Amino acid sequence: MNPDVTSPEIRAAEFDAADPLAEYRARFILPENVVYLDGNSLGALPKATPERVQRLVEEEWGGGLIRSWNSAGWFEMSGRIGARIAPLIGADPNEVIACDSTSVNLFKLIGAALQMRPGRKVVLSEPGNFPTDLYMIAGLEAQGLAERRLAERERLVEALDGNVALLMLTHVHYKTGALHDMVALTRAAHEAGALVLWDLSHSTGALPVDLTGVDADFAVGCGYKYLCGGPGAPAFAFVAERHQAALRQPLTGWFGHAAPFAFSDDYVGAPGIERLQCGTPPVLGLAALEVGVDLIAEIGVGRLYEKSQALSGFFLDCLTAHKVEIELVSPARSDERGSQLSFRHADAYAICQALIARGVIGDFREPDVLRLGFAPAYLSFADMAAAARHLAEVLSSGEWQRPEFSQRAAVT
Ligand SMILES: *Cc1c(COP(=O)(O)O)cnc(C)c1O
Repeated sequence: MNPDVTSPEIRAAEFDAADPLAEYRARFILPENVVYLDGNSLGALPKATPERVQRLVEEEWGGGLIRSWNSAGWFEMSGRIGARIAPLIGADPNEVIACDSTSVNLFKLIGAALQMRPGRKVVLSEPGNFPTDLYMIAGLEAQGLAERRLAERERLVEALDGNVALLMLTHVHYKTGALHDMVALTRAAHEAGALVLWDLSHSTGALPVDLTGVDADFAVGCGYKYLCGGPGAPAFAFVAERHQAALRQPLTGWFGHAAPFAFSDDYVGAPGIERLQCGTPPVLGLAALEVGVDLIAEIGVGRLYEKSQALSGFFLDCLTAHKVEIELVSPARSDERGSQLSFRHADAYAICQALIARGVIGDFREPDVLRLGFAPAYLSFADMAAAARHLAEVLSSGEWQRPEFSQRAAVT
């Protein structure tokens, strides 16, 4: 049959029948009649998570009490989960740890990088990077420790002068989904004598990253997006092994001490990646994160990436089939973007609300971007066909102009 005249729904059914990841949808809890296109902001709930959290609370906490730090392996959780994340980002197991939030991990690693480049104070990033990334540099600047420099992405390489201690960028742009060239930028920074910190929040679990291959120094990433760790899940931090012995991070809490239970007055950092820890780890949050990480690792990032590209490509085909005309701000080529598609429209907010009213949950990003995320672990091609049809109907009917869709909630 000529694909041009086949309805998107029929093609979707064919793709779903041939999809090797189709079975994984049943490993998640998703509401009926919802097409969830916001897994890049808060990943869906794995089916195994409630039972795991309940067991942790009732048996390990309630029954084991403080003994569970040893008997239930609470002490090892941060490192164990880090090791499980490592293959998703091309790192060695001893180079990654799950701890704190992405923001806090940024602070620790920017601080560590500045200490490794005495005489240089500039942290270089780009305008429009995720806000917390820019704010964390500003916080160190207010302490007199850093100097923030922002350069448009086309100008980053020329902004790498002898004052730059650290180049800090987000691999997949949160708003547009555009990818940075990690290989070229890491090399350029190293040639300028600077270190590199990659924020992998919108990459991890959706597309392969090779931190070892690109020779990265540091990285951070988020636990509650594609890793499905739950709201506010602990994040992760990566430090290349070659930097670990000399690394001095500024949040020298007791859990990063070489011997926390020696209760010494003086700080001595743990020998390896454990030095990145600060205070007592959030065990409840780590337990939920571990379920998500195990599931994503089981599927494997190569297969996830393949499906993510297929999903977003098919979604664009569906829009074409419905003759939808809306400006794409993400790169049109699937190998130049992360697992999302962003569209620009003056009334993107109201369109987003109208879609949510129809059960298609995407999100809006200021000032005019409708952002749709394609979490490959649990979305189907049928979801793509349905979402595209809804978007076409919302746009052609003009229903997004109804007043209730333009009223802004405090948190969007
Ligand atoms: C989601 C995200 C964060 C989140 O930081 P939190 O400390 O978890 O709030 C940071 N950076 C980027 C690029 C993100 O996309």
